[in-house]
Amino acid sequence: MSYLEIKNLQKKFIVHGEPLEVLKGIDLDVNQGEIYGIIGFSGAGKSTLARCINRLESSDAGSIMVGGVDILSLDKKALLQERRKIGMVFQNFNLFDSRTVYRNIAYPLEISDFPKDQIKERVLETAKLVGLSDKLDAYPGGLSGGQKQRVGIARALVNKPELLISDEATSALDPQTTIQILDLLKEINRKSGITILMITHELDAIRYSCNRMAVLEEGTIIEQGSVAGIFNNPKSRTGALFARVF
Ligand code: ADP
Ligand code: MG
Repeated sequence: MSYLEIKNLQKKFIVHGEPLEVLKGIDLDVNQGEIYGIIGFSGAGKSTLARCINRLESSDAGSIMVGGVDILSLDKKALLQERRKIGMVFQNFNLFDSRTVYRNIAYPLEISDFPKDQIKERVLETAKLVGLSDKLDAYPGGLSGGQKQRVGIARALVNKPELLISDEATSALDPQTTIQILDLLKEINRKSGITILMITHELDAIRYSCNRMAVLEEGTIIEQGSVAGIFNNPKSRTGALFARVF
């Protein structure tokens, strides 16, 4: 069953008065509970796609269904409600440096109508899930990159979302820490059944984590299917892309 269904998604920016087409009709189907990979070079449109899904970015045409809800049709209030079902993690962590780990994780609960008397329990539970129980009083500045990303993941999960969008979550990390974070995402997926959209320019991260993937090039999905199939027998454009830098 598909959880995230995108049809003909289009997005352009106006740059110096000229239209720049960044998403040129994206079709994507991500099944409930899977870890689905999207790979593409820098500038391919990956982050724009991620931001369109929760409407941090507007789109020009197409449809986006998340868990059966038509995201693009929602009014402001309904959108705020639906956004809680979508967690997001970023390459540069986007943490609040002046807040402790505890208060970074608590932030999404503090700004929603989550019951105040249940915040602590939920934060402690989420911190435990990502292995940060002993770092709750630390500030981001005193953490390693991997620990910072664990805070980012905890903050993304604290509302118990159904979909986690990981936008280059491991791209700032060394190889060993990357594996630890990928293992954590796999474990969270296995335990909770959360659907994960793993966006990255790192082939190894996709190969390690996903069964299915799409290849995004200049705003177009040039190939999608099983990871094994695409790696073993890429279409010519994908093969050329893989050979370049990945
Ligand atoms: P990726 O995440 O794959 O590196 P992005 O989605 O960040 O790609 O960017 C895709 C293209 O859209 C790039 O050419 C980028 O410069 C452009 N772009 C992204 N955001 C904006 C914006 N807010 N205004 C203008 N152009 C943008
Ligand atoms: Mg990006």
